[in-house]
Amino acid sequence: MIPVRIIRGPEPGPTVFVTGAVHGDELNGTATVLSLIKGGLDEGQLQRGSVLLVPVVNIQGFERKSRYLPDRRDLNRSFPGGATGSGARRLAHTLFTEIVARSDFGVDIHTGSGHRMNFPNIRGDLQDEGVRRIATAFGTEVIIDGSGPKGSLRGAATKAGCPTVVFEGGEIGKAEPGVIAVAERGVLNVLMELGMVDGDIVRPRHQVEARESTWMRSDFGGLLEFHVAPGDIVDEQQPIATCTDLLGVTVGTIRSRVSGVVIGMTTSPTVTPGDPVYHVAVAGRGTDRLRRAIETDEHPRLLDEVRDHLASNVVVSDVEPATGKTRN
Ligand SMILES: [Zn+2]
Repeated sequence: MIPVRIIRGPEPGPTVFVTGAVHGDELNGTATVLSLIKGGLDEGQLQRGSVLLVPVVNIQGFERKSRYLPDRRDLNRSFPGGATGSGARRLAHTLFTEIVARSDFGVDIHTGSGHRMNFPNIRGDLQDEGVRRIATAFGTEVIIDGSGPKGSLRGAATKAGCPTVVFEGGEIGKAEPGVIAVAERGVLNVLMELGMVDGDIVRPRHQVEARESTWMRSDFGGLLEFHVAPGDIVDEQQPIATCTDLLGVTVGTIRSRVSGVVIGMTTSPTVTPGDPVYHVAVAGRGTDRLRRAIETDEHPRLLDEVRDHLASNVVVSDVEPATGKTRN
């Protein structure tokens, strides 16, 4: 059984679905849906239309604390699914026919996969006008433009005429307050954009669109010292991590190949050559405007809070270029 909460406003309007835990171990979506319910969406906040809230789509993965279904299939590569075939196909088909087919827009909430954390960002196919509309309204600083992997819920739903975006934030196995606050605010922003909830959209200081994102990998094996945090802006050739051996002797420095915004990083300080360390969104000139906006605005904002929260999860230290050694 998949729990679904349906909330109807008193007046007609669009229908929007919000899904969590399509990957069973990604719990920030589950917590966001619960926060929306407890926060008053069902106590009169929703003025027009309907919201279909699915806190956990992949119940079997959720119960096993696993991303996958019990047969190791990835539900988010199985959409739109079908009435026959594997369990993943059938589950995808059920969600598609019962929820997506009834909806005009969708938001699917995810986190980084194992040993990775994501800085809040929205992903969607910005060629689709409906996707562009809700992706922009959601209010993250970074939007990644792309149609998504084959078989993804957002790709299949958008293709079927239900513009859908993915929110990415935080890491598996946790309900992270800062990430949940950003996700909940984002869903409310979308509902305001669609005229379903009254109020003012909370916009970020600056928003960049990235058509490309790339992982910076380690060429070395050993232990990592991190020099940038999720949400930071990096320049091409900037040192982003130092790799030492197990006795603390520097083995090498990892530099960013591109300039852009750090939208993801490993949470594990151990690496072998080839391991991904930082995920950087390449946003062209928008990157500099975002940097200036972050540096010049002193008022605390949701995204600054989450920047601090996520950075507190890893040790981020400055680089001392002369010796390659680091200090806290
Ligand atoms: Zn996911």
